[in-house]
Amino acid sequence: MPTLMGICKDYCGTCPTFKENNLRGTKPHALFCARGKTEIPEDKLVDKGCNCFDCPIYVKNELEGGWFCFHGMEGKK
Ligand code: SF4
Ligand code: SF4
Repeated sequence: MPTLMGICKDYCGTCPTFKENNLRGTKPHALFCARGKTEIPEDKLVDKGCNCFDCPIYVKNELEGGWFCFHGMEGKK
């Protein structure tokens, strides 16, 4: 069974927003839907789209909003 982090790595890890902002380098690094948003200030982030909608964790848990790295566990409204 893949770990939650392993699954997130396949989706956040390949997300253009993740790469552009080097989100891996700042806490909580990944799994933003569970751990909350990145500690990088929102006005410093560049939005290049969100891969969460195809993530099995997103689908299974019926999450909403996406862009958890920007908006935390609630996702984009
Ligand atoms: S829904 Fe998004 S933040 Fe949550 S595990 Fe999947 S890719 Fe990562
Ligand atoms: S939460 Fe969405 S926008 Fe943020 S890095 Fe993950 S896939 Fe990309």
